[in-house]
Amino acid sequence: MTTIRQLFQTHVAQTSEAPIGIEVASAQGSHITATDGKKYLDLISGISVSNVGHNNPQIKDAVSRQMDLHAYVMVYGEYIQYPQVALATLLSDNLPKQLDNVYFVNSGSEAVEGAMKLAKRYTGKHEFIAFKNAYHGSTHGALSLMDDHEHTAPFVPLLPKVRFLDFGDTSKLNKINERTAAVVIEPIQGEAGIQTASAGFFTKLRKRCDETGCLLIFDEIQTGLGRTGSLFYFEQTGIVPDVLLTAKAVGGGMPLGAFISSKEIMSVFTHEPVLGHITTFGGHAVCCAAGLASLEFLLNGNLIKEVHKKESHFNQRLQHPAIQQIRSAGLMMAIEFESYEFNLKVIEQCIKNGVITDWFLFADNCLRIAPPLIITPQEIDFACDVILKAIDDAG
Ligand code: PMP
Repeated sequence: MTTIRQLFQTHVAQTSEAPIGIEVASAQGSHITATDGKKYLDLISGISVSNVGHNNPQIKDAVSRQMDLHAYVMVYGEYIQYPQVALATLLSDNLPKQLDNVYFVNSGSEAVEGAMKLAKRYTGKHEFIAFKNAYHGSTHGALSLMDDHEHTAPFVPLLPKVRFLDFGDTSKLNKINERTAAVVIEPIQGEAGIQTASAGFFTKLRKRCDETGCLLIFDEIQTGLGRTGSLFYFEQTGIVPDVLLTAKAVGGGMPLGAFISSKEIMSVFTHEPVLGHITTFGGHAVCCAAGLASLEFLLNGNLIKEVHKKESHFNQRLQHPAIQQIRSAGLMMAIEFESYEFNLKVIEQCIKNGVITDWFLFADNCLRIAPPLIITPQEIDFACDVILKAIDDAG
């Protein structure tokens, strides 16, 4: 008899030769249960998506209530749909006043694409500045903002006129000039293995963008929705971007993304040409209902406030001579080992012993910790026990 695993390998397009391959039966809270009954603690949240936990009851309820009313009705931006309006309003209410206008899309890459077009249309310029080792998505525009040769070279030509600077280095900020439409930056570089920059860097970056008249775009697709201990990470940098990108956790587990800016900047999409950016499914009512329930859950509870306490818990427990460094920004952590081979052994052992983790795209010697923010102290202890034993076994 053909197994579901064989059908997966035959009919579902593959993205690597070694998928994790857990056969999912259900997911609840911080756990995923496989069809063979094995229960895994999810330490990666589908890469920073399930911030409020799997199968969150409030989200389930919101989705089902919205399905009773209506699902898809019309291409983006034409009809007034309550979940969209309510989510855009709640996001705006919790952001500085210059970020009060939300354009909903379906994914992170699409938020990047939309923001790039917005910057070109608003400034009338077409050059971009991005940073080395950044990850912005898999579409052509997003790939153009990445200097990673391995992932971009097979897909050239990409967009011309993109310059790459060193993340956190203020000495080359003069490369941002009068021809620059926008600077696109991950304020914490996720796939580079959780790299942070100083507040001084962000202040100088903001100043240079203001001097040259380009838009500053923060890609908070991975850092967003509480993961770093504030709703968005820019709150900890002391500056406010002109455009904020969100996706992943913003849909509470449903496909949703957004680029957020001011009404003044965003209004360029309404004319010359009309429908300057358009999407069929962006801002889907059911996804926005899920996103709204998720944002309310985050804002009404103590989850965001507890992020740093949980980060310290991991940091205190994860002490081992084989750990070269731990870099963290809230519940976004990278555990660095000497090599990819060692890391792979640790990851395999972790998964075998019921803890799901993985490595980073541009830091394959680092183990990822990005659990649902609802993770409990007992679950953190369990995760650390399993990781430490896996390191011992790998040594
Ligand atoms: N930007 C960042 C920082 C991301 O981490 C990701 C996804 N890993 C993206 C953009 C692209 O998002 P998506 O996969 O939803 O297109």
